[in-house]
Amino acid sequence: VIDTVVDKAEDLSPRPPIVTIMGHVDHGKTSLLDAIRKANVVSAEAGGITQHIGAYQVTTDSGAVLTFLDTPGHAAFTSMRARGAQVTDIVVLVVAADDAVKPQTVEAISHARAANVPMIVAINKIDKYEANPQKVRTDLLQYEVVVEEMGGDVQTVELSAKTGQGIDTLLEAIALQAEILELQANPNRAAHGAVIEAKLDVGRGPVATVLVQNGTLRQGDIFVVGQTWGKVRALVNDQGERVTEAAPSVPVEVLGLNGTPSAGDVLNVVETEQQAREIADYRAQVAKDKRTAAGTA
Ligand code: GDP
Repeated sequence: VIDTVVDKAEDLSPRPPIVTIMGHVDHGKTSLLDAIRKANVVSAEAGGITQHIGAYQVTTDSGAVLTFLDTPGHAAFTSMRARGAQVTDIVVLVVAADDAVKPQTVEAISHARAANVPMIVAINKIDKYEANPQKVRTDLLQYEVVVEEMGGDVQTVELSAKTGQGIDTLLEAIALQAEILELQANPNRAAHGAVIEAKLDVGRGPVATVLVQNGTLRQGDIFVVGQTWGKVRALVNDQGERVTEAAPSVPVEVLGLNGTPSAGDVLNVVETEQQAREIADYRAQVAKDKRTAAGTA
């Protein structure tokens, strides 16, 4: 029932990269996500305030659109991957210039490798007197991360999430990496995507933030997501605006679910409500049988 048709080359068009920021605690992941959000020219012009919906998009000075997962840390990345949702094209590895490579830096490198996702190293806190960006580059060599300055192919950008210095350079480095990856999707098919956050909202009922990975999700679409299903009642973008559709790599809040799915659940648009209900019920039954078998029902 679920559309698994492989897209033809002529149906594909470029899509924005989906970027995850990883790195050691206190090296500046949250600060960097905030600084990038603030550098978003589009929302600044519109006077809009970016909503926290778990992901946001920015447009670089050169016109490239980038999608950032707004969930720092490694837990979200690994748990989503464990559920079968690979929602990262590029990892930005944040390393504080006054602290260099630390255990969670190394952990982030192995996550990016396991997911086969290229890395860009953001050497943060360059504003600090103790900053030693060169030590970061040589430390990374020990983990076989060879930066461009040392003849490798990993881009590094020296920046400060505090002063904003280097943020634009980082965004252009990501845009360049994305070009190399030639990321594509087919906007003219039934959508599928991954849930990055879900909650039960007092006023709006179950709300899931979905990152569309292929196709276009539209108001009125019938879908199944994990053990829940629904018909898109409304879509809300990262600016808090109602939209009628979401193209590939666009994060949107989806309203109209019959329950609250889990982060990492995959959303698929289907033809009929009956199909959606049957698939969701079947999955719920399988999950229940598993719990019974495990004696935890
Ligand atoms: P996270 O744990 O990786 O998310 O790190 P945070 O973003 O919470 O930052 C940890 C601390 O470093 C906070 O006190 C930030 O204000 C500080 N910090 C982050 N980026 C910079 C920077 O570029 N320069 C300086 N001086 N401090 C920074």
